[in-house]
Amino acid sequence: MDHTSILEVAVVGGGPAGMSAALVFGRAMISTVIINEEQARNMVTQGSHGFLTRDGAHPADLLQIAKEQLVQYEQVTYVKGRVNQVEKQDALFVINTNKGDTFKAKHVVFATGYQDDISQVNLPGIDAVYGKTVYPCPFCDGWERRNQPLALFGEEAFVFEFAKTISHWTHDLVVFTNGKKVVSEEQKQAFEQKKVVLVEDKIEKLISINGQLQGVQLTHGQTISRQGGFLLSTGEKQACEIPAQLGVETNDDGTYKSNEWGKSEIEGIYIIGDAKNGFGGIAASVAEGARVAAMMIHEIIHQKWAIA
Ligand SMILES: Cc1cc2nc3c(=O)[nH]c(=O)nc-3n(C[C@H](O)[C@H](O)[C@H](O)COP(=O)(O)OP(=O)(O)OC[C@H]3O[C@@H](n4cnc5c(N)ncnc54)[C@H](O)[C@@H]3O)c2cc1C
Repeated sequence: MDHTSILEVAVVGGGPAGMSAALVFGRAMISTVIINEEQARNMVTQGSHGFLTRDGAHPADLLQIAKEQLVQYEQVTYVKGRVNQVEKQDALFVINTNKGDTFKAKHVVFATGYQDDISQVNLPGIDAVYGKTVYPCPFCDGWERRNQPLALFGEEAFVFEFAKTISHWTHDLVVFTNGKKVVSEEQKQAFEQKKVVLVEDKIEKLISINGQLQGVQLTHGQTISRQGGFLLSTGEKQACEIPAQLGVETNDDGTYKSNEWGKSEIEGIYIIGDAKNGFGGIAASVAEGARVAAMMIHEIIHQKWAIA
């Protein structure tokens, strides 16, 4: 399908950030296409938490409601698919999808998020529990695991700081570094004082039944019983490389550079949500999508006013 009319905006990615932006564009009658592969990183979870009025809803249900509500705004077209190329041609962007669709737009908002590659974390058995009883974020799932015997898995020095945070949710925390010596003597003393147990032995596997973590088996045979846990790293990386291909710079942590209004250094390209913030959460991503869309609409309207 070749969509020859020139759209104001193409939104790439339809998670909380992209769908929220599309809704605001639709309500301002701004011609918009939103293209979404529907492979958000949080689909592995059993419920999303901390988003007011939708606490505990599954991400797929949030997406379904958002799609149903977008339908009434005729200036917005929702397309399921993956954008595999965006080309800048003078003041326009030409957007191609893996389904053979082509769109032309004056502005492109990347709300493409991050992807996790859990096979990178070197913990046999993690796929069975990830998103069910072992998670990346205590604000998302800590309440469900409060006061339980928890594990924290982390092989980098930042594990000490993360352990401080996780210890707020439980007084029974074991930190596993999986054979890595990343905790200093001073930090070990702090752990002892706070009754946080540090295990530096290598992990054989995580033992679980139906997604419920039962224990952590070490290579020397001992199994430490745990009911849930958190991960410092999830093998995370940008879900979409196209902004980088278009010249958008990355920060040291891999997030795309854009200002507080989502504007990148490349004229017409905006970055919002996790692609900009790393791990922003649903409420913050929704808020950013709405805020950035409103600012863009102001600019579009004012430019039209100046020309007419
Ligand atoms: C396991 C887990 C549990 C979480 N639980 C919570 C929670 O309980 N509460 C909370 O607030 N936050 C939670 N989060 C964080 C939350 O999921 C993210 O912060 C939030 O979804 C970011 O929104 P986003 O719109 O930026 O990106 P995403 O939600 O990741 O959406 C990006 C979308 O863009 C699509 N996409 C990517 N590239 C392309 C492309 N080239 N073409 C078309 N589409 C593309 C993806 O398929 C995806 O649908 C959790 C995260 C994880 C990993």
